[in-house]
Amino acid sequence: MDFNYSVEDEAFRAEVRAWLEANQQFAPPPSGPLDDGGKEGWASRVRWHKKLNEGGWGAVHWPKEYGGRGATVMQRLIFREELGRLNLSEPGLGMGIGLLGPTLIHWGNEDQKQRYLPAILRGDEFWCQGYSEPGSGSDLASIKTRAEEDGDYFVVNGQKVWTSVAQFADWIFLLVRTDPDAPKHKGISYLLVDMHSPGITVRPLVQMTGGRGFNEVFFEDVRVPKKNIVGEKNNGWQVAITTLMFERSGSGGNEGALTQINQLAELAKRLPRNGGSAWDDSGVRQKIVKFAAEAYALKYTGYRQLTRQLKGMPPGPEGSMMKLCGTELSLAIAQYAMELLGPYSQFEYNAPFALDRGKWSLRMLAARGPTIYAGTNQIQHNIIGERVLGLPKG
Ligand SMILES: Cc1cc2nc3c(=O)[nH]c(=O)nc-3n(C[C@H](O)[C@H](O)[C@H](O)COP(=O)(O)OP(=O)(O)OC[C@H]3O[C@@H](n4cnc5c(N)ncnc54)[C@H](O)[C@@H]3O)c2cc1C
Repeated sequence: MDFNYSVEDEAFRAEVRAWLEANQQFAPPPSGPLDDGGKEGWASRVRWHKKLNEGGWGAVHWPKEYGGRGATVMQRLIFREELGRLNLSEPGLGMGIGLLGPTLIHWGNEDQKQRYLPAILRGDEFWCQGYSEPGSGSDLASIKTRAEEDGDYFVVNGQKVWTSVAQFADWIFLLVRTDPDAPKHKGISYLLVDMHSPGITVRPLVQMTGGRGFNEVFFEDVRVPKKNIVGEKNNGWQVAITTLMFERSGSGGNEGALTQINQLAELAKRLPRNGGSAWDDSGVRQKIVKFAAEAYALKYTGYRQLTRQLKGMPPGPEGSMMKLCGTELSLAIAQYAMELLGPYSQFEYNAPFALDRGKWSLRMLAARGPTIYAGTNQIQHNIIGERVLGLPKG
């Protein structure tokens, strides 16, 4: 592990820092922990994306020929560090920049790259991910949504669920079954479907946080031109896995955990207990220090992963470990905040008497989502047990 940055990386850092400092006023105000699916929040993130893109920071990891910066793994990390330094975030506008773009760069034909990539980069078209179905989540290859050929079209019928940002998306990348008689991984295709097509219905699902981030999406005789297939017919599983690799490489970790731990310590110092504050209790301090130790362990595990990537080695066990431990840590921090708050934990987000505007109870509810998406934590346990530790299959 080498903790020094190269001259090029230092130059990259100086450039992004200068740009962000000069343009940070265009970023949306910190929205709090709740993404409630509102139009206003979305529009302000679109404006931030467009501004970043004007500066050439819209998709730093895309190759230069497709409008990105061709940033290395290290430079991508630096970009995120510099955003974090100013308390800014990437706009998070669906799955175009992070998932579909890189997948198309790898698998798409030239017409598809020219048609879709520039619109994603400009922030003119937004994408959602149509993978999960009722009954097909962890066992994704069991999907049932059908696409049948009819001349130059596929005709799609079926249902997707938990589709994040479908209410704003112009397009969906969709896993469909094109050969029901083939073994389940071999009869799947990957289609690009216009969300404005006749026959598509989007219904919001309200989460326990009150947010409306994801949806059910229904397809009834939706006609999709055959040229919208990515890769070959019945070979969509390979394409789908590529997208999942981009999803997993961007999730988990401990981003934000140290910030949350600092906020937890501040909270303990403000909470009255036995004539002093909760922070005076050594049991409370020990618990918070234990969280901090875990967050630092994750940080250095992240550096180990980075070292492997920089050396061009295949992904190791760190990805699953970080996904599992990072999401469990965030949940544990939020749950401990509930204990500290006692009866105050019952106040909802933004309730008039809530401490910290009720953000802790909201975080406690929201922290479960990341333990489910991008491969549930139980599946990560299986991966670590079977593939890393070599334990027998359960
Ligand atoms: C916030 C959020 C956003 C999401 N956004 C999207 C999206 O945009 N597009 C999309 O397609 N999907 C999305 N999802 C769906 C997500 O991918 C699925 O929820 C996930 O794959 C799990 O599938 P499932 O919900 O069907 O649960 P299941 O797979 O039915 O699992 C139910 C339970 O059984 C456990 N389990 C299942 N199989 C095993 C096993 N082999 N061994 C041990 N335990 C097992 C699971 O861990 C889980 O606890 C989102 C989910 C969340 C929470």
